[in-house]
Amino acid sequence: MTTAQAPSAAITRVYPNYVTILLFSLVTCGALVGVPAFGYWYGYSWLDWAMFGALYVVTGLGITVGYHRLLSHRSFDCPALVKAGFLVAGGWALENSALKWAADHIRHHANCDREADPYNARRGFWHSHCGWLFVRDTHADEKYATRLKQDPLVMWQHRHYLAIVLSGLALTFAAGFLYNGWIGGLGCFLLAGVGRTFAVLNSTFCINSICHLWGRQPHGRADSSRDSWWVSLLTFGEGYHNYHHTYQSDYRNGPRWYNFDPSKWLIFTLSKLGLASSLRTTPSAGA
Ligand SMILES: [Zn+2]
Ligand SMILES: [Zn+2]
Repeated sequence: MTTAQAPSAAITRVYPNYVTILLFSLVTCGALVGVPAFGYWYGYSWLDWAMFGALYVVTGLGITVGYHRLLSHRSFDCPALVKAGFLVAGGWALENSALKWAADHIRHHANCDREADPYNARRGFWHSHCGWLFVRDTHADEKYATRLKQDPLVMWQHRHYLAIVLSGLALTFAAGFLYNGWIGGLGCFLLAGVGRTFAVLNSTFCINSICHLWGRQPHGRADSSRDSWWVSLLTFGEGYHNYHHTYQSDYRNGPRWYNFDPSKWLIFTLSKLGLASSLRTTPSAGA
């Protein structure tokens, strides 16, 4: 290769991440084909739906409160046991370890809309939604993980990430098996394990895609972030993304009392129970 060819090769590089492509193909096929097919042939019990709902809430809040507002933005403090709970709940969402997730997210805020933004929305809906996961990241920078690596609980979760993921899936099978044997186990695994994982993954992806492409920008136009109240309904309050990008250390994403932000409500409730402290707000936001 000549030296003249090197720069264009660097710009157009696409290195597929085959492991992630395979994993997401399995989850997507399982959710879109396996879940309805099993429902058609065998049906789902009330337990399957209850586990789906409970794990959607638990793993979703593990990401929004644990991975995002606690570890990425340090918008509040909490005891080690509470943090460990969020790390397990977030791990069950199959969105990578908190170390990787939060380092990517800190880089997103530091480089929003630029080439080093891992889910740069200027590259379109597909890339920012999930396409960014399917190519190897050539802009990863260890400096965004430096602070996280000093947290022993974050490193504990990183080391045991696979076991945590498998424990979440095993929980769904065990609950269904105890209720209705092998068929019950498979049904609960499909709906509350695979189907719920697909649903939570895509709700998180909507923040990176929809909330950087469509919606209002009442708090600032420094980057492409936007507020979308209806995305908040799916993501426990994370749809108020323009506010979040403007005041990113605020423990609230929807600052007003009528904003649907269950993550904010959980953090506030934990603080009243003595399980969270140092809640950070932004008085200048006028909220
Ligand atoms: Zn963003
Ligand atoms: Zn953020």
